[in-house]
Amino acid sequence: MSDVSLTDTDVLTRPMTDPFGRTISYLRVSVTDRCDLRCFYCMSEDMTFLPKADLLTLEELDRLCTAFIKKGVRKLRLTGGEPLVRRNVMGLVRSLSRHLSSGALHELTMTTNATQLAKHAAELADCGVRRINVSLDTLDREKFRTITRWGDLDRVLAGIDAAQAAGLAVKINAVALKGMNENELPALMQWAHGKGMALTLIEVMPMGEIGAGRIDQYLPLSLVRARLEQQFTLSDLAQTTGGPARYVRVAETGGTLGFITPMTHNFCESCNRVRVTCTGTLHTCLGHEDASDLRKPLRASASDELLSETIDRAIGLKPKGHDFIIDRRHNRPSVSRHMSVTGG
Ligand code: SAM
Ligand code: SF4
Repeated sequence: MSDVSLTDTDVLTRPMTDPFGRTISYLRVSVTDRCDLRCFYCMSEDMTFLPKADLLTLEELDRLCTAFIKKGVRKLRLTGGEPLVRRNVMGLVRSLSRHLSSGALHELTMTTNATQLAKHAAELADCGVRRINVSLDTLDREKFRTITRWGDLDRVLAGIDAAQAAGLAVKINAVALKGMNENELPALMQWAHGKGMALTLIEVMPMGEIGAGRIDQYLPLSLVRARLEQQFTLSDLAQTTGGPARYVRVAETGGTLGFITPMTHNFCESCNRVRVTCTGTLHTCLGHEDASDLRKPLRASASDELLSETIDRAIGLKPKGHDFIIDRRHNRPSVSRHMSVTGG
């Protein structure tokens, strides 16, 4: 017999709808702030990572995700930092897969740099993961090393091959970087589409102190798209994930190309997502400093009531939208937290 009364159950399972009528069904969780790479637009070379005690344990992450699933989350993405460098992260994936089996969760997915993917691809597939996003900005070994500061491209390519061999659908995410990979984007797209993978291009976002001028890296995707259109036939697709990506079909390759343009487009009306950092901080908007601490209610009691109420309160304050600005005079990020802490 459960000792949870009707009202308590109500609190725990009330669907999350924000003041603007948007129902929250997509949760991204950063399982670590650590990473085995140091992509120059994401981290500084000498990053200081959080003390272990600040991180949610894997058990706490499980409890937190489960609470969100009870409250209507249907799609869950594990990210980081690099999720696959968290010790025993596969234990968490295995445990969360019970929600796929029960039908409560429709999709469990991951964003990874793929350096450890060859090791884990088969188990991810076995846990019911069907699709993953792999971040890869270049196919040039030297450039890859420059962008990631020490990464080995061959490891990443082997990870992608292993994922495909395990039956996972792979989507490639590439950050468009002025003067770095901008001339290579058509080739990257042809490579991805040739392997049956969609490619999504991302505009660099002003997040976190990274020790380099960010204006130098900013390449508007409107320009990238215009250049691609000189070579390829792009037709808009209606397909949307409720997120910031817009998709086109490329006639010549038959593949899908996405554009994530947080700087030049407003996608907030259809936003169905929230993020939780590896320390249990809930952000209801990527572009705002709003934050709710979920670690405290998680640790305060073994019951999920307090946690659930805190989530409800935060969703009730989800901002209508955001406006990223790269401050051209001061060249400072408009949001000070790093993408690796928030979870990209
Ligand atoms: N380590 C994993 C990876 O790279 O896929 C997951 C975390 S990473 C923070 C998630 C995504 O955020 C990656 O695709 C990365 O390229 C992107 N990203 C990181 N910093 C960014 C920034 N300042 N602007 C835009 N995208 C960024
Ligand atoms: Fe690591 Fe991903 Fe950030 Fe690159 S983008 S440093 S792989 S967390």
